[in-house]
Amino acid sequence: MHLPLAGKAPLDLQGLSREPVTGLYVHVPFCFHKCHYCDFYSIPSQTDERMRAFVDRLLAEAALWRASAVELRPRTIFFGGGTPSLLPLDAMRRLLEGLQSLFDLAQVDEWTIEVNPATAERDYCCMLRECGATRLSFGAQSFDRAELKMLERHHNPDDVARSVALARAAGFERINVDLIFGIPGQTMRSWLHSLETAISLGTPHISCYALTYEPNTPMAVKKRVGTIVAIDEAVELQMLQETRRRLAVKGMAPYEVSNFARPGEACRHNLLYWDGGSYLGFGPSAASHVHGVRWKNRGHIGEWERAIDDSTLPAAEVEQLTQPQRMGEHAMLRLRLTDGIDVADFAARWNDDPITRFADPITRYGRQGLLVASEKSIRLTEAGVAVADAIAAEFLTTAGR
Ligand code: SF4
Repeated sequence: MHLPLAGKAPLDLQGLSREPVTGLYVHVPFCFHKCHYCDFYSIPSQTDERMRAFVDRLLAEAALWRASAVELRPRTIFFGGGTPSLLPLDAMRRLLEGLQSLFDLAQVDEWTIEVNPATAERDYCCMLRECGATRLSFGAQSFDRAELKMLERHHNPDDVARSVALARAAGFERINVDLIFGIPGQTMRSWLHSLETAISLGTPHISCYALTYEPNTPMAVKKRVGTIVAIDEAVELQMLQETRRRLAVKGMAPYEVSNFARPGEACRHNLLYWDGGSYLGFGPSAASHVHGVRWKNRGHIGEWERAIDDSTLPAAEVEQLTQPQRMGEHAMLRLRLTDGIDVADFAARWNDDPITRFADPITRYGRQGLLVASEKSIRLTEAGVAVADAIAAEFLTTAGR
């Protein structure tokens, strides 16, 4: 049975810029279990046959782009999800090799794959390395069993060190560990235990995200009805501040609100997003942006499959961004970076002076000690980082006025 396609404006391929697209994101939507805080598109893992058929369609989607007028010449590739490492080894190998045969990947200098620490295996890591991946990312989230249970994560704290060791043995030096703070029931002491354990693994990159209660996730509903209680905001703020301080002391200064790296080890793919770069997304629900045109692939796997089987691109929710929108988004994303908005770069890109354009929020937040502006940059102070989202949102709306 064919599922009906939502009626959305089609993607005008001819109208897209001819400048090469330099980022590629591949969304693999399978997970062992749907964690109750997660709002990414993911479904419980399927049979190996279903996942192999999924890879066939991913490569068919890639071939549609290969045949289009859009030139994909990636410098960064990111496989996320979902849990990409749930793909059977032979299917993942076919996917990596298939992309290599379809596109010129000679300029790729970072290829990240998210790997589940519960199931990482040496053969799998070696295959990823042999087939061109350069960076692995492990979703540790916490090193406390009760907190992992609260998040509905099914690995053991020990799995992470084991996975990092396997990754190193397979030849990966660029490794990331993801952590979450602000978990219900978490204390400052248990958070610092998780953070110190992650630091002790010696990976060059650590991401520390505050738990967010995304609307309509089961966890948000449980919070609303009182089944779970969010931790105190003041404690969460202390966690953020202490995290930034401890990681900076260890030579891993924050380069973005939630991301910490040794010099030269920032995630280049994420920097592409935060700098407004162009990227294509393959797979259900994957987002793309090509020089001011943005869209999302059809979010339901059945709809996505049907589009691919009809040899049509599964793009939906196509949006042509206006210049004020692009300026606002650029400012909003750059403000989350430690370097902030580069005044000269902003002026050159948009032919608009950011100090004048954002004079109101610069003055107001500057007086409150949350932001500093100079001839060179506009950036948040340490105090401003705690309210980064609110300040960034104001820059976004100011650009549209
Ligand atoms: S493993 Fe990650 S992507 Fe999958 S449901 Fe859990 S949080 Fe979401």
